Amino acid sequence: MDLKQGKIVIFSGAGISADSGLATFRDNDGLWSKYNVMEVCNYKNWRRNYKLVHEFYNLRRQELQTTKPNIAHEIVCKLTEEFEVINITQNVDDLLERAGCKDVIHLHGFLKELRCEECETIFEIGYEQYNFTPCPTCNATLLKPNIVFFFEHAPQYQKMYNIFDSVCENDIIIVIGTSGEVININSLVNKGYKILNNLESRDMIDESLFDSIYLESSTTALPKIYKEIKKIKSL
Ligand SMILES: [Zn+2]
Repeated sequence: MDLKQGKIVIFSGAGISADSGLATFRDNDGLWSKYNVMEVCNYKNWRRNYKLVHEFYNLRRQELQTTKPNIAHEIVCKLTEEFEVINITQNVDDLLERAGCKDVIHLHGFLKELRCEECETIFEIGYEQYNFTPCPTCNATLLKPNIVFFFEHAPQYQKMYNIFDSVCENDIIIVIGTSGEVININSLVNKGYKILNNLESRDMIDESLFDSIYLESSTTALPKIYKEIKKIKSL
C-alpha cells in the first residue's frame, strides 16, 4: 500500500450540506414537510402532478439561492486542488461548485437544470422559477427538473460503479454524510484506505469496513480529515 501515489475518491451525501441549512426529505420540518415525497419525486406519477412538482422545485431553487457552502464543501475543494480527486455527490445542490469545485459528478441530477422529456435537451434555469415555458430547442411543453426521481433510471450510476471498481490499494476513499439507504456503500468500498464521516452510526453502513471514522458533523470532521490526508500524503 502506497497511499502517497494514489487518487482520492470523495463520495458525499446530504450530511455535507446539512450544516448549510439545506433540509432533506428525511427531516420532518421545513420545505419537505409540506410535500409528499412520493408525489413530487416519483417518476411514475410526476406528469400527473406536473404543477405540484414544479412548485416544489421552484421553492427548492429559491431556498438554494440563499444557502451558502460551508467549510466542509470548502475543504473538499481544497483537496481537489491539491490532489488527484474524483468528486462524486448524491446532492442536487450547487454548494460544492460554489465552494470552487470543478467536475463534480452529480449522481441524482442538478437542481439548477431542467430536461426536456421530448428531445432530452438539458438546460440551465439557475435559481429562477420555472413558469411552464416550452422547451427552447423543440418547443415541447413537458419539462422535468433534471433530478433523478424514485423509480427513474440514474444514468450516472454506471460511472460510479466503474470509479469504485478502479479503486486500488494505493487509493483513498472518503465517504461523507450519507445514510447508505439509497446507495449501498458497503458494496462499493473494497480496496484502499477508507474514511467515513457521518453525524452518527447508520444501520446501513458497516463501520468495520472503514479504517478511520469520524462520527460528528462534517463541518468539524472535514478539517480533521484534511489533516489526516496531508499526513498520509507526506509520509
Ligand atoms: Zn425539447
